[in-house]
Amino acid sequence: MRKKIVAGNWKMNTTLQEGVGLAKDVNEALKHAEVECDVVICVPFTHLAPVNEVIDSKLGLGAENCADHKSGAYTGEVSASMVASTGATYVILGHSERRQYYGETAETLKEKVALALDNNLTPIFCIGEVLEQRENGSYLDVVKSQIEDALFGLSAAEFSKLVLAYEPVWAIGTGKTATDDQAQEMHAHIRSVIAGKYGKEIADNTSILYGGSCKPSNARALFAKPDVDGGLIGGASLDAESFMGIVTAF
Ligand code: PEP
Repeated sequence: MRKKIVAGNWKMNTTLQEGVGLAKDVNEALKHAEVECDVVICVPFTHLAPVNEVIDSKLGLGAENCADHKSGAYTGEVSASMVASTGATYVILGHSERRQYYGETAETLKEKVALALDNNLTPIFCIGEVLEQRENGSYLDVVKSQIEDALFGLSAAEFSKLVLAYEPVWAIGTGKTATDDQAQEMHAHIRSVIAGKYGKEIADNTSILYGGSCKPSNARALFAKPDVDGGLIGGASLDAESFMGIVTAF
């Protein structure tokens, strides 16, 4: 059966010292908690190797992005193999902030997904509509196209290594969460889109996380929905207590 996962996305927050401290706090809290899901922290590139030194194997580690090239003259970029060499095993790809501010397209994302998989990183692949698409009723088609355009070139074996994260852009960092019914509608839709291409078994085994202003106070209702397999957590992952409140919300 598919895994339940809660992953933190620290974004461009924390100095190295603050980040190592936060990772230690989450790691410590996790030792004493009854947890029914895999827990992952996705941290800035600079923090990956030092954070890996202070966490136990119970806490997964990921990057927030990787380059769309293998290596070479791409000043300032960080490759999937560099990420993997730090001990990280996950990478967030296609976050709406990267699509919006850094022009990431389905074509770039195809390359990133392939390189992540080549380096044994699990992509946490983000999809989601903007407010206008939610309001004009095109949101189900928008998300279907995002999945088809970037991911449907993958073989079934490759696709089954992915984690998806539905993140309605209007809910990210806004304090406005999708209702549990809105999340369920989209997650069931995503699962049926996957089933249409790869079959029911792969669809049923794909973990689909919800992201967008998820907090300890709303996580339980969201995670209780049958097609919501956990969360990708931004703001609330920057505080160990809030993050643990979500981790223990199953
Ligand atoms: C995110 O950016 O992945 C996210 C879900 O952010 P927040 O929880 O702050 O809305």
